[in-house]
Amino acid sequence: MKDEATRTTDRPVILSLAGLSKSFGETQAVKPISLDIPEGEFLTIVGPSGSGKSTMVRLLAGLEEPSGGALYLRGKDITAIPANQRPTAMVFQSLALFDHRSVGQNIEFAMKMKGVAPAKRRARALDLLKLVRLPETYYSRAVTQCSGGERQRVALARAFASDPEILFFDEPLSAIDYRLRKTLEVELKELHQRTGRTFVYITHSLEEAMVMSDRIAIMKDGDIIQIGTPSEIYAQPVNRFVARFMGEVNIVAADKSATFPALSRNAKGQYAVLRPEALHPEEGTLRARLTVAQRLMLGSRTQLHLTGDAGESFVSEIAGSGDAFLPGTEHEFGFSPENVVWVDA
Ligand code: ADP
Ligand code: MG
Repeated sequence: MKDEATRTTDRPVILSLAGLSKSFGETQAVKPISLDIPEGEFLTIVGPSGSGKSTMVRLLAGLEEPSGGALYLRGKDITAIPANQRPTAMVFQSLALFDHRSVGQNIEFAMKMKGVAPAKRRARALDLLKLVRLPETYYSRAVTQCSGGERQRVALARAFASDPEILFFDEPLSAIDYRLRKTLEVELKELHQRTGRTFVYITHSLEEAMVMSDRIAIMKDGDIIQIGTPSEIYAQPVNRFVARFMGEVNIVAADKSATFPALSRNAKGQYAVLRPEALHPEEGTLRARLTVAQRLMLGSRTQLHLTGDAGESFVSEIAGSGDAFLPGTEHEFGFSPENVVWVDA
């Protein structure tokens, strides 16, 4: 997490959206959005499927014509400038590599189109292989002979070939298995730091966003409903939608909880958002007896799915293997009002 001194929002704005919107017939895929993206920022746009993320990033990359508003690059109106004339590049989920061509040919494709001389293209391609940490020997390897992670790196090298100021990513890791995805997330973050370029990254995984981003924008129904640093969003989600998006949380209606009736006396909002690790068998002033419905091992931690007398469901996360918490057994759990995040909607 970043401290105030290193916040990228203090830097000059590279990309500015002024009421940018997009409709497809009756569908308003992106509502008018105004947003400044500072130079060098890793901004991630997160939202569920259909929330307008792809349309948004296509608008930013110039692959989609906006229905309204304007887009500025360092203060210059680029709304009408075609994608291939902008200093930006895009990486798609499909990667869109040419399978029948070599790694080198894939990376050099755009340079070749622009008439860059072969020796110069090759030198640049070898530099780019180094940038994405692929050995030089991969230059002549067929793309079909590369693993999923290697193909990802080839797509990145190709995106960097034009030395873009801004890189757009539309869920590039969503089709990749968990372990490799975690590795690539770290590599991408490092690549961002090494190159200092502006990254606008789309994902439906808030977990992925939390790992990599300087700022996260949460999209819902074509609108950005919250934007902030990962720690800001984690500490103060604006509503239940954002809180739920962060994974397993307890959301308790303050005045309606039969399990924790005392909650209403501490209420600072309509709903109490309580993280699983804040609902604990040993601690907390607000306590209740809960029955273990399910126990899930998470490695060094254990997740307990719990039920209150009135049928309310809760989730708790405890350290260790939770041997005492057999399904069907009843235990006292509690939390402290200061660990509650209050939301109104
Ligand atoms: P996401 O990437 O978050 O899943 P999209 O931007 O792809 O969301 O889609 C947002 C909304 O716009 C959806 O309702 C989708 O059906 C609609 N949409 C996207 N592209 C088109 C298109 N080319 N024509 C018509 N509707 C579209
Ligand atoms: Mg999409």
